[in-house]
Amino acid sequence: MEKLNQHISLDDLVSLLKAAFEEKSYNIMSKIPKTDLHTHGLLSGPFGCYQRLSKAYIPPPPNHFGDFKEFNTYIIRELRPIIQANGLKGIRKLIKAGFERTASEGVIYTEMSFDISAMAAFDIPIDEFFNIIDEETKLIYPGLWVCPEIGLNRAQDPVDMFRYIEKAVGTGIFKSIDLYGDENIKISKGFIDIFNFVQSHGLKVKAHVGETGDADSIKKTVCNLNLDSVQHGITAANSPDIINFLAKRNIVLNMCPASNYKLGLIQKTEEHPLYDLFKKGIRITINTDDFTLFNTSICDELFNLKWKMGLKSEEIAQIIRYGLKEIPVR
Ligand SMILES: [Zn+2]
Repeated sequence: MEKLNQHISLDDLVSLLKAAFEEKSYNIMSKIPKTDLHTHGLLSGPFGCYQRLSKAYIPPPPNHFGDFKEFNTYIIRELRPIIQANGLKGIRKLIKAGFERTASEGVIYTEMSFDISAMAAFDIPIDEFFNIIDEETKLIYPGLWVCPEIGLNRAQDPVDMFRYIEKAVGTGIFKSIDLYGDENIKISKGFIDIFNFVQSHGLKVKAHVGETGDADSIKKTVCNLNLDSVQHGITAANSPDIINFLAKRNIVLNMCPASNYKLGLIQKTEEHPLYDLFKKGIRITINTDDFTLFNTSICDELFNLKWKMGLKSEEIAQIIRYGLKEIPVR
């Protein structure tokens, strides 16, 4: 078998997947090279890391959040105070925990976002935050290449955020940008300016859309921000026009089935629209989103594709390959 890197052949991927399924082996699954293209840096380690940083007991995340509001309330009430109380030292520990966990499940490449708007809100010196990200990504986490991503919340004032974005781009650390938050907030000209700016500096551009918003909002956002990839995009499945549009533009949808289920956007994992989109020729990838809160790894997700959604090993191998093809040449 050739080396297990992004150049692994489809046949080798299929045989490893078949072995993992036959033996129900997490160990074999974790040896398969894979990517995580939709993951939020401070929420990517095990929940226990927050508990260790906290002086008091924290109620663990529920198995199912009723909705977005409940999800946000949990983060604001239980996790944010821990970040604030521990400052940069705690942030480094959380980043380390995320990198270690990601490497441990055989991810070889990740685009991990770091919320610079939250840092501004926490009064955390942004230069020191950038230094930590830079230092940690330079450390060796077995086989893992981390490409830090600028995380930006729609709730922030883009005009106000522009100086942070300029600073972030200036460091040369960040290779992509992702916009997230409440999809009801309109994307104003300020965000378009930010996206044009980062794209002119060679960064990949992504946004959360079509998670709660409708299919049309996906097309609008892809066009307005000239997106390379979409985070989620599950509602694309409701519109043949949008599916055609995404296929023509070769847009990748970075999906997170466990997140969609645990936030109540789908009623059952079995009902996730990813298989439908895949069969219609959309390039989809499988990702963790917020491991701290959902406790579902990519290995777990790959098992779910087979056992809950009924995909064949050959199809799952193709989905893994869509992710591996996103790895830049270096
Ligand atoms: Zn996300």
